[in-house]
Amino acid sequence: MCVVAHPDDECFAFGGALALAAERGIETYVICLTDGQAATNRGNAASGEALGKMRRAEFVASCKVLGVTRHELLDYHDARLEFVDFSQAAGRLVKRMRHFQPDVVITFGGDGGLNTHPDHVMVSMLTTSAFHWSGQAKRYPNLGAIHEPQRLFYLSTNFFIPNRQPPKPIPWTVTLNIQSVRERKTEAFRQHTSQAPLMDQTKDLFEKYGSEEFYTLAATNEPQAARLKEDLFDGLVG
Ligand SMILES: [Zn+2]
Repeated sequence: MCVVAHPDDECFAFGGALALAAERGIETYVICLTDGQAATNRGNAASGEALGKMRRAEFVASCKVLGVTRHELLDYHDARLEFVDFSQAAGRLVKRMRHFQPDVVITFGGDGGLNTHPDHVMVSMLTTSAFHWSGQAKRYPNLGAIHEPQRLFYLSTNFFIPNRQPPKPIPWTVTLNIQSVRERKTEAFRQHTSQAPLMDQTKDLFEKYGSEEFYTLAATNEPQAARLKEDLFDGLVG
């Protein structure tokens, strides 16, 4: 399960991990909390609503390219996630974790990712809480039988966007070689036609750094020292 804030997060941030999982036959579920109406790049949309509609369709197309099994876009307002009812929003994720029963959950870290977007920070906090609460019978007893996901990973990075205040990323524990699905990740990004200027702006960065994604094991069910890995699913799938 991958939880993101905006249409395009699923590809530019997590696209490699999702496409690799799909290639291995692992079921994936992307939950996106907003429809991205507050984006700087607005395509030819006449209104926020029109942009949201456009970006919903782009999200669906991108998930299709990445081979995502199941995707869902919730109805929170873009750029307003820090003001939502935390308990209620985490509960919506708990409900989905208990229903879909993921082993592995991936999301942004508390740094908010490369652009330090506050929505990304909030997605991290909400998903972290839901990850732990999904497996606790005392939490949300009315939202279905508990399910304990086994691993929570945060996205990290080995580079910053120049001329922009950098995030303070969590040191990574997983280096994911995404070379084999790199073109698919780019193709997924291309589905976000309203965000084409963003793709142009980040082209050089992705050319230079785009063969890897970095993740940090943030929670797991066995006490252990941090270990460096090259896989999110080792020991869980063959
Ligand atoms: Zn985003």
